[in-house]
Order: sequence, then structure tokens, then C-alpha cells
Amino acid sequence: MVQNQIEIVDSIVELIVSSGSSVTNSRRRIIAEIVRKDGLFTAEEIAKDLPNIGRATVYRTIKLLYELEKICRINIIDEHSYYALSSSDHHHHTVCKSCNKIEEINLTGLEKSIKKYQKDLTGELLSHNLELYIICETCT
Ligand SMILES: [Zn+2]
Ligand SMILES: [Zn+2]
Ligand SMILES: [Zn+2]
Repeated sequence: MVQNQIEIVDSIVELIVSSGSSVTNSRRRIIAEIVRKDGLFTAEEIAKDLPNIGRATVYRTIKLLYELEKICRINIIDEHSYYALSSSDHHHHTVCKSCNKIEEINLTGLEKSIKKYQKDLTGELLSHNLELYIICETCT
């Protein structure tokens, strides 16, 4: 693992501890595996990569990371739920339809529009989710 990745793991561990949850050795290994992936992953993949760690622990840790907004859920039509590490505040993603490479993007204008529509909604707006599907430069 490169230094930069170790720092990311440490910062996530710190966040979990400060949120009041404990970080076991298994949990740390799961986080390290996610950071190492550097892209899309499924809970099944992480469980497969770490056969000595119980599936329930893997799923619980991923759920916790999602709740703490350290990972994003990416909408891809598939039987699995895909996640990716989050490296910034609110953002959207581009997803390459061919190689599944993802990138974080900010859609400032869109955020403003959504705020404007808020008053026309018949309920309280909680969140939104949008992925832009592309064919990346490597795949064209
Ligand atoms: Zn993201
Ligand atoms: Zn691609
Ligand atoms: Zn947004």
C-alpha cells in the first residue's frame, strides 16, 4: 500500500472512531481493501478478497461507511450494489459504460436548479442521485 492510501485508511478509521463505532482489525482490513480497489466495488467482491473475514462483518462495515458518507452508491443496472470511495463533499459521477471507470464531477448549475424546484415538490426533498454514463477516452 502506498503512503497516500495508508493516510486515507487512517482518516476513515479516525472518522469511524469519532462517530462512536469501534474499529476492529477486520474492519481496518476491509477499509484498506476498499481503498486499494480505487474504483467500483461490490460487497461480494470485498468478501471474496478477504475470505478470513465473515461476510456479515464486510456488509456491516460497508453499510457504516455508506452512512458516514465515506463511500458512494453508484447506480448501475446490475444485480449487485456498486460502491466507490468518496473523496469530496456532494458530487455526482461519470461512469464509463464500457470499463466501469468512474470519476467524481460537480454539477453546480444542476444543484441550483434542484434547489429552485424544491418549492414545487409536494414533500420535503431529502437527497438526489445522478450518474452520467459515458464512454471514456480509453474506451473510444
Ligand atoms: Zn462519489
Ligand atoms: Zn472506459
Ligand atoms: Zn447533486
